[in-house]
Amino acid sequence: MTTNTSRLRLLVLEGDGIGPEIMAATLRVLQAAERAFGLKLAFEPAQVGLAALRAQGTTLPDQVVEMAKAADGVVLGPVTTHEYPPRAQGGRNPSGELRKTLDLYANIRPARSRAGFPPRCGKPIDLVIVRENTEGFYADRNMHLGLGEFMPTPDLALSVRKITREGSTRIAEAAFRLAMQRRKKVTAVHKSNVLRVTDGLFLECVRAVAARYPDITYEERIVDAMAALLVRDASAFDVVVTTNMYGDILSDEASEISGSLGLAASLNAGSAHAVAQAQHGSAPDIAGKNIANPAALIGSAAMLLAWLGDRRKDNELTRAAAAIEAALDTAIAQPEWRTPDLGGSLGTDAFGEKVAAILSTSP
Ligand code: ATP
Repeated sequence: MTTNTSRLRLLVLEGDGIGPEIMAATLRVLQAAERAFGLKLAFEPAQVGLAALRAQGTTLPDQVVEMAKAADGVVLGPVTTHEYPPRAQGGRNPSGELRKTLDLYANIRPARSRAGFPPRCGKPIDLVIVRENTEGFYADRNMHLGLGEFMPTPDLALSVRKITREGSTRIAEAAFRLAMQRRKKVTAVHKSNVLRVTDGLFLECVRAVAARYPDITYEERIVDAMAALLVRDASAFDVVVTTNMYGDILSDEASEISGSLGLAASLNAGSAHAVAQAQHGSAPDIAGKNIANPAALIGSAAMLLAWLGDRRKDNELTRAAAAIEAALDTAIAQPEWRTPDLGGSLGTDAFGEKVAAILSTSP
């Protein structure tokens, strides 16, 4: 039984596109985990995205930000930010703003191949990209006030990339801590041959942290070479630490190599808050058709339970997270239980039911 008597409050934000469908499947799985492991979860739904814009005039109501601060964790569906109006007309990026407001500095993005579904590089993959999540090239959120992107004249556009000692050090620490629980290898990815000052500072910070972890094998790779090395043999990597935009791009690549973007779970974590969010976007091209793969959001929710289990020293949460991951593996291993992105024909809801059914027989 769980050691904490109060219910864990999980804020549930469906988001846009395939969000409602994959969230429904995810909640089904979380409810099955709740029953199987005696968890006490309280789901608090709220609207963000285009539905919130229609109903409340903004894609991210202030009240939702307050709910996220008060919750024990957040499960966030994908958001179609490129369809949002300018900020003055209510367009706010729920994903970016929650990362900034809750100081979710570490975006943990695993890429793992699954039994029965061959990875595209020919060898089994099990790596985690630890992506800095609050600064770098993300001009819509990397400044205290205002934007890191501007146009001094109609024909000149500039972006400012922000790298700080604090941001680089804390993401490096997150990567090395994670590597200690894994295969004890960290690869730092950078472009310091060109961005000598900013990636130079990033590398200086990572090297300082590496010096405190003599048991960990540490190496560095330039980002363009890393893109090629992942295709050649992604099995060579364990924990990869990098800045915001390199991490975003490389993690999509790594998860596609591991099988499909539809399998790519991720957690945005800080020292006080965490938001589960799939790596992929809102896939408007397949929205409403019941064909999206919910595995990435289900896996992200499992990562949130694992994060909560670790913080609260709650074994049942930790076990539930591992069981959800194992149930995903079991389902994906069966060709007839796969969704169309993996070559199968199972619907989003049926896949969720399958994973929930496997969980309900967990030992
Ligand atoms: P957004 O604008 O929200 O980023 P997008 O379509 O540009 O959306 P993704 O949502 O990441 O970007 O989708 C890229 C491709 O991968 C699309 O063809 C989409 O249908 C597919 N895809 C993404 N997520 C899934 C999923 N969960 N299941 C199946 N296919 C997916």
